[in-house]
Amino acid sequence: MSTVTTEAQPDASGHFGTFGGSFVPETLVAALDELTAEYHKAKADPEFQAELKQLLAEFCGRETPLYLAERWTEKLGGAKIYLKREDLLHTGAHKINNALGQILLAKRLGKKRIIAETGAGQHGVATATVAARFGLECVVYMGAIDMERQHLNVVRMRLLGSDVCGVEAGQKTLKEAVNEALRDWVTNVRDTHYILGSALGPHPYPMMVRDFHRVIGVEARAQIMEREERLPDLLIACVGGGSNAIGLFHPFLDDENVKMVGVEAGGHGIKQGEHAARFQGGKLGVLQGTKTWLLADDDGQIELTHSVSAGLDYAAVGPEHAFLQDAGRVEYTYATDDEALDAFQELAAVEGIIPALETSHALAYVKKIAPTMDKDKIIVVNLSGRGDKDVEQASKYLLPEED
Ligand SMILES: *Cc1c(COP(=O)(O)O)cnc(C)c1O
Repeated sequence: MSTVTTEAQPDASGHFGTFGGSFVPETLVAALDELTAEYHKAKADPEFQAELKQLLAEFCGRETPLYLAERWTEKLGGAKIYLKREDLLHTGAHKINNALGQILLAKRLGKKRIIAETGAGQHGVATATVAARFGLECVVYMGAIDMERQHLNVVRMRLLGSDVCGVEAGQKTLKEAVNEALRDWVTNVRDTHYILGSALGPHPYPMMVRDFHRVIGVEARAQIMEREERLPDLLIACVGGGSNAIGLFHPFLDDENVKMVGVEAGGHGIKQGEHAARFQGGKLGVLQGTKTWLLADDDGQIELTHSVSAGLDYAAVGPEHAFLQDAGRVEYTYATDDEALDAFQELAAVEGIIPALETSHALAYVKKIAPTMDKDKIIVVNLSGRGDKDVEQASKYLLPEED
């Protein structure tokens, strides 16, 4: 394995090797520069870090447990499986780590208004939550189809005082919602901060979002050292934009003996338009501000994607993952809808934990790999979110119809 120097990533212009960067309209250049400069100051400011730490603890519920899945380990009959319980955080997933960090930055920048995009609604709910906590006006852009599919999250955001703005363009899903949020930002950049929801978009977002989620890996590292007195052999996480995965992986990147696998959405299988596994048949391109692996046809048109989990259903992957794949440091694979649904059911039945469908993709890979590993090996899998939001959808696949 090649050693990857990770501390230097990205460079000053936001490049992770040849990936990343900042491809935005002229009007956003100054705002992104301002954001980058303020972020570096905040990162080095003990007061900022102390406030973030206190809110992560008292408002969000950190630190999250590292839980030994005893019965699942026994059932699979191989490596010991630990779950990093991000599902126990306020609002039910890792996303609040980033939303909270960014709203504290917005406050430092003197911004009065928050905007965000959301697909399934999880990032929208996390953003609406922190906006309520700080009393800032908040508009969340969401595709009209997603609003129908995720009605409960629309109600949650409205209860939290946010304005949910339906987007009718194109496929009426996440990609169009991001376009609308960028359009709003260009118009209102003086008083508005855009809380982007994954390790994607133009610099400094991939770096900044990663840093706000690094707490996952930092805690997991200390917890496993205390529990097992050694580092894990394998880290596993699902990869949509890649924020929960990079949060877990990043603090371990320089530990050569720790293997890492990111699991993308294989949907109905690797056929055009039927999946969202960018490293399976994707190509290098630019989408929504960043250069990375994405799913596009020969003319550069973005392809349709499909996944049973809305949170993994996006045509581009975060640029740092493109870099880590290129460097051979992290391996990327995929799980199909069926495999994810199977793992979803198994974790619920065996461990008493209903995971998010996104997370279930990582769990599907655990099911494959754990039995092939010796019993003295250790896996840490990021349990990125809880599955309450997915129960109704899963019921269509899992339970026999009543007549
Ligand atoms: C949004 C979401 C994801 C996918 O986003 P990443 O940025 O790849 O982490 C994964 N799991 C859950 C529970 C989510 O809500």
